[in-house]
Amino acid sequence: MRAWLLHDTTGINALRLEDVPTPEPGPGQARVRLKVAGLNHLDVWVSMGLPKPKSLPHILGGDGAGIIESLGPGVSGWKVGDEVVINPSLSCGECEFCRADNMVFCRQYSILGEVEPGTLAEQVILPITSLIAKPTGLSWEVAGTFGLATSTAYRMLARAELKAEETALVVGVGGGVSSAATLIAVAMGARVLVTSRDQKKIAWAMEHGADAGYDSGSPFSVNVKETTGRGADVVVENVGKATWDQSFRSLAPGGRMVICGATAGNKVELALPVVWFKQLKIIGSTMANRSEFEAALDLVASGRVQLPIDQIFPFEELPTAMERIDRGEQLGKVGIRVS
Ligand SMILES: [Zn+2]
Repeated sequence: MRAWLLHDTTGINALRLEDVPTPEPGPGQARVRLKVAGLNHLDVWVSMGLPKPKSLPHILGGDGAGIIESLGPGVSGWKVGDEVVINPSLSCGECEFCRADNMVFCRQYSILGEVEPGTLAEQVILPITSLIAKPTGLSWEVAGTFGLATSTAYRMLARAELKAEETALVVGVGGGVSSAATLIAVAMGARVLVTSRDQKKIAWAMEHGADAGYDSGSPFSVNVKETTGRGADVVVENVGKATWDQSFRSLAPGGRMVICGATAGNKVELALPVVWFKQLKIIGSTMANRSEFEAALDLVASGRVQLPIDQIFPFEELPTAMERIDRGEQLGKVGIRVS
């Protein structure tokens, strides 16, 4: 098979398209021929060794959708030719957390393409627990790209307990998670405010139900308080240092800050008295459990959340696609068409 191999962890320039032996599925596994694979900022991090792959060369990529091509011994419930969506969460499947649909706390939890070989190849080997039947009518482009970002956004809003009558501020809209969080919060009936450095991304959010948008580089907390009277009940953050101060100031009394990443700096200052006087919560969240992934798929497949596709590149143009993500130019999901 052809695969994009990461030869060292010096970044996305270390990727080469090469021929490698097609892997065979083991017990409980399936081989899936990819139709579309989705890219995430995570792939850029892993290309820099954050985290380090199990071995080099390595195949990146967590998101994807395709067709089952071969099944390992002992697999039931699936057949060759089935169309599947890939859930990028991997875990032991046996511990107390895995048994309780709480796999994100499994000690062996990892994301497909982080440690294990991922979807940026013509074929991928997966445990059958990572497969979900592709809903009829869902396009390959969406099926292959929505997963990681939409399920992450879904869990963030669930952990922040956003309610329909509340206001959510989504900081740095444009990337996969923040776009999905905007659309899910709108679908839930919440009032949504956004920030971006890019007026086009703000315009997109407002066309899709956001009430207002502000420049991420401005003192946007002032606008948030003016618009809401008291601040945002939930702030969705994955920018980090560059926006932290303003995001924090935007919180209403009793507000919840939910964080899933820090693409622009991961060390911030925090004035502790504000936390207790305003009775704030800071909530970490990453990825999603199986039920949350399925809920995200349902939102996308039913059309309640229409995640934007930024661009689907030909398989051979992966480096161009990765550069687009690295520079943060995308609005919505970037993917590659594998077959
Ligand atoms: Zn486990």
